Amino acid sequence: MTEIIDGNDVAQDIRNGLLDGIETLTDAGTTPCLATVLMNDDPASETYVSMKHKDCEEVGIATRDIELDPETPAEELFDTIDELNADPEVHGILVQMPLPDHVDEREVLRSIDPAKDVDGFHPENVGRLVAGNARYKPCTPHGVQKLLAAADVETEGAEAVVVGRSNIVGKPMANLLIQKDEGGNATTTVCHSRTEDLAEKTRAADIVIAAAGVPEMITGEMLSEGTVVIDVGINRVETDEGSELVGDVDYDSAKEKASAITPVPGGVGPMTRAMLLWNTVKSASDVAEIDVDLP
Ligand code: NAD
Repeated sequence: MTEIIDGNDVAQDIRNGLLDGIETLTDAGTTPCLATVLMNDDPASETYVSMKHKDCEEVGIATRDIELDPETPAEELFDTIDELNADPEVHGILVQMPLPDHVDEREVLRSIDPAKDVDGFHPENVGRLVAGNARYKPCTPHGVQKLLAAADVETEGAEAVVVGRSNIVGKPMANLLIQKDEGGNATTTVCHSRTEDLAEKTRAADIVIAAAGVPEMITGEMLSEGTVVIDVGINRVETDEGSELVGDVDYDSAKEKASAITPVPGGVGPMTRAMLLWNTVKSASDVAEIDVDLP
């Protein structure tokens, strides 16, 4: 029987596990607070940001909601980030991507106070992650680690294949898997668009993590019996009835081979959102110098 790893359930457990810590911090006068900055007109980005606010509200994390017109000069965005950096009541800052062409994304990531960089994309935080001393683990790969743990998947000594090498998913995922730490110690191969014979690599894997942004590219034929399959991909594809969301894994054929698999939607997506809350609570706990249990 293939285990279907339910990301909604695991994410709910993470949110529940944060409640006591949020209460402790709030009672001590440090209500965790996440600020979001949205500077595009993309309806999908607007939805992502509003979902993040809703998630925060549900667990008692305060929010700041800043929206800038896409035409706003870059300096104004940097001034906004500076103000949030200086605001002692704000513990996490998330600048929603993509940004307009006249704004340099790398410069924006560098301008966020690393202590408030709950996405974990500031170069200082990337460096710390690579060095095995992470302050914030990026939300999506951290969520994948939690899913693997929830499904009792042993990473130590396992052959893991990460398909994708982006800065937000593939690279940090591979880095977490190789750390000499819980949820790490895996022998990890990173595959990408120039990899020759991807199927040879995925067939040799105990764990496949697909993050390529290519609809249903990982098929059952590319997997060995008993593989654990984590599908990070979120792709909107046209259908006769309109459109639907699919992952990077061809779910039906992969499920025939997998010992455990995540669905899309309802797998990694909810975990990414939950881990943002996790990082925000961690930031507030660091500022308050109060240790709280993090799930
Ligand atoms: P990206 O486009 O930045 O990176 C994709 C990576 O896949 C690249 O490194 C590329 O080399 C590799 N790749 C592309 N085609 C390939 C192929 N044919 N074979 C092997 N490798 C190939 O994308 P991203 O931001 O890393 O996101 C990847 C996917 O995950 C997207 O579908 C995205 O929507 C999704 N995503 C989901 C979540 C979530 O919360 N579930 C979060 C972030 C991204």
